[in-house]
Amino acid sequence: MSDSSVAAPIAPFDKAQILAQALPYIRKFHGKTMVIKYGGNAMTDPALQKAFAEDVVLLKLVGINPVVVHGGGPQIESALKRLGMQGQFIQGMRVTDGPTMDVVEWVLGGEVQQDIVGLINQAGGKAVGLTGRDGAMIRARKLKMLDNNDPSKEHDVGQVGDIVSVDPSVVKALQDDAFIPVISPIGFGEHNESYNINADVVAAKLATVLQAEKLMMLTNISGVLDKAGQLMTDLTAKRIDELFVDGTISGGMLPKIAGALDAAKSGVNSVHIIDGRVPHVLLLEILTDQAFGTMIRSH
Ligand code: ADP
Ligand code: MG
Repeated sequence: MSDSSVAAPIAPFDKAQILAQALPYIRKFHGKTMVIKYGGNAMTDPALQKAFAEDVVLLKLVGINPVVVHGGGPQIESALKRLGMQGQFIQGMRVTDGPTMDVVEWVLGGEVQQDIVGLINQAGGKAVGLTGRDGAMIRARKLKMLDNNDPSKEHDVGQVGDIVSVDPSVVKALQDDAFIPVISPIGFGEHNESYNINADVVAAKLATVLQAEKLMMLTNISGVLDKAGQLMTDLTAKRIDELFVDGTISGGMLPKIAGALDAAKSGVNSVHIIDGRVPHVLLLEILTDQAFGTMIRSH
């Protein structure tokens, strides 16, 4: 990936034209909330990290309210490896026992979240890191995992959670001031226990309860691909059902699309799975008529 900070020089006249062309979008989206799922390459490549932080700060400065939800599977993986805690997987899901959950909380709520907060602040924003515990935001319960072949059998994957409810009041309070919330996908249960929740699912639910204008999920691929590997720029609920059934969608794309579709059906105006490898993809997606990735529609 090329270094996004080394852009070709643009003549002042062209610059003015480009800025003027963003005006209709800025007017349309002023005061609106946009939930951004930050993950994949955009989170590990320094040039892309910087471009992402700049985009978030610019959006805030033109009156849009970005809310960032981050993932961190690879970072958790490498921390557990360093500690010699390899662990066990059932149907692609990590068995999260107590000690593993401790590591998950350190890595997501400490390391990864604070790295993002630092990047945004360095770009001139005021980011505040939160987990789902803060402001009693994300109530969760243990994920019920049924056996793929025998649904009468249940697997215990430990502290992996499902969302019970999301109270967005702490997010609203922060965004009403000049702050940019950065949220780690950790929820709390009835007995104050912690749960690790898929970040796509958290981002989708937050977008719904915040009645966000847009949900954008940055990923490590150009969007949702068909069986032949071609990008599908537009997907409806009906087509998504077919793609689930014929196995075109698998792995990490499953919770992403399920969450995206839920949000689209629950009134989030536009939902996009976008290519996080493209520098400044957020500005391109929000402030130009260029589209990167796959738009998810409820019908
Ligand atoms: P992240 O959550 O960081 O965006 P994931 O690895 O969880 O990344 O999800 C994205 C991955 O989903 C892709 O890299 C790809 O391997 C996988 N995937 C499965 N089915 C598809 C599909 N039909 N189109 C695109 N990616 C898919
Ligand atoms: Mg994922």
